[in-house]
Amino acid sequence: MKTSTVSQKVSKNSTHKMVKVAVAKGDGIGPEIMEATLKILNAAGARIEPEFIELGEQVYLSGNSAGISKESWEVINRNKIILKAPITTPQGKGYKSLNVTLRKSLGLFANVRPVSALYPHVETNFPQMDVVVIRENEEDLYAGIEHQQTQDVVQCLKLITRPGCERIVRYAFEYARVYGRKKVTCMVKDNIMKLTDGLFHQVFNEISAEYPEIESDAQIIDIGAARLAANPENYDVVVTSNLYGDIISDIVAEIAGSVGMAGSANIGTNVAMFEAIHGSAPDISGKGIANPSGLINASVSMLAHIGQTEIADKIKNAWLTTIEEGYHTADIYNEDASKQKVSTSEFALEVIARLDQQPNELPVSNIANGKGVITIPPYKRKEEKKQLLGLDAFIDWKGSDPEIIGKALSKINSFKLKLKMITNRGVKVFPGGMKETYCTDHWRCRFVAIDAQINGSTPVYEPVEYEQVVALLSRLHNEGFDVIKTENLYEFNGKRAFSLGQGE
Ligand code: NAD
Repeated sequence: MKTSTVSQKVSKNSTHKMVKVAVAKGDGIGPEIMEATLKILNAAGARIEPEFIELGEQVYLSGNSAGISKESWEVINRNKIILKAPITTPQGKGYKSLNVTLRKSLGLFANVRPVSALYPHVETNFPQMDVVVIRENEEDLYAGIEHQQTQDVVQCLKLITRPGCERIVRYAFEYARVYGRKKVTCMVKDNIMKLTDGLFHQVFNEISAEYPEIESDAQIIDIGAARLAANPENYDVVVTSNLYGDIISDIVAEIAGSVGMAGSANIGTNVAMFEAIHGSAPDISGKGIANPSGLINASVSMLAHIGQTEIADKIKNAWLTTIEEGYHTADIYNEDASKQKVSTSEFALEVIARLDQQPNELPVSNIANGKGVITIPPYKRKEEKKQLLGLDAFIDWKGSDPEIIGKALSKINSFKLKLKMITNRGVKVFPGGMKETYCTDHWRCRFVAIDAQINGSTPVYEPVEYEQVVALLSRLHNEGFDVIKTENLYEFNGKRAFSLGQGE
């Protein structure tokens, strides 16, 4: 199989090929900050050729619910690199999130958000912080698979996959290697979600072992997020799943000083998209006062990604020097630290004037000193033996006493399958539940063929055939039970592959 390269080339070669980039000017402040950014890229000698694409508010309002035209897709598919200013999603139902569409359609699996403090030039409580959050971008609760199952209960499916975990965790370690970072911290909640977050943690353990030169560490997300907010200086690269990453990447940007300053990269195997993390700021649009730094930083990541690392450093260092010398847009201006309040276009000119300078106090950018290319090998599925052990039947029942449904279901034996237990919202309520447990109309009834239901010993499950499951479901239906969903219970390579009920 061919190796796919997420081409984060870090080379010292200054003669680069011209790279065509799909550029979206966006809405609100988008066109103002894009103009400033493109001027800087041009003045720095970036070897890029913008090809402008239409997406965002006007496309939505023209009746295209995805917010992106067919022609724009063609340019993206041709160029594979996107520099995007923020867009405005019109109010009202029926408009699909353009960012989610782009991420999912283009397989942009990694969201990379580097955030560092610019103290004392930009106010922050954490002068030393320099964190990169690498967030899985396609899976988890963001798969958008939701159902109402009973009158009282709605569900959202959390999907974590081994290929998804392998790709994002390897990307994080490769990123650390290429950018000379020392430590990768994984954040999960596997004390509760033993299968889903447990898989992410297990893959992290497996892949971290391949990078002994990089320190690795795993933390439970709740305490991890609290520590990250309290002492961000202790973190370097953080890798996590979609929802946790969404939250902590915003926390990190906020505590660094200005949400207007950070850029982010969305990296896929073939396509990559670079943008500021803030929105289109309609409140200041057209005033010429927006801070273009988020998009400038995004364009620096883009240049590093396409191998133009010296130009990336040149722009980053000029930008750091401009901030250091106190030329600040209104959002970060303060009388103590700033020298002059500048407009968006004046800020760009100040950066251009410093394209051959390096900052004195802030750390000098040296991406060009990195090494190697980020390579994510294709996923190889290992053979595993799968065995059916039983069924969780979710039943809509409006009664409140678990003993009643429990006793009725206990009478239903279908071949070897027997009721083992019932949970309500995950807590065991039959047999031997507690009367204090609140019960909804959503009963998870576990049927297994089991050898050792007695003595509290470790249960030994007997294999069952799918026909037995079908027969059980038919029996439940005929007895008047309203089965609203089922989950098969499996073991893989002899290992139980479902969680136990709380109290089971
Ligand atoms: P926002 O980020 O646009 O604005 C929040 C606040 O931050 C505002 O006070 C704004 O003036 C300020 N701000 C943002 N960027 C700034 C900058 N570069 N310089 C100075 N100040 C800046 O968030 P919002 O108001 O919640 O959203 C506005 C619109 O942007 C919405 O339509 C939303 O859907 C969209 N949005 C788009 C993206 C994207 O395209 N990636 C991301 C977030 C929000």
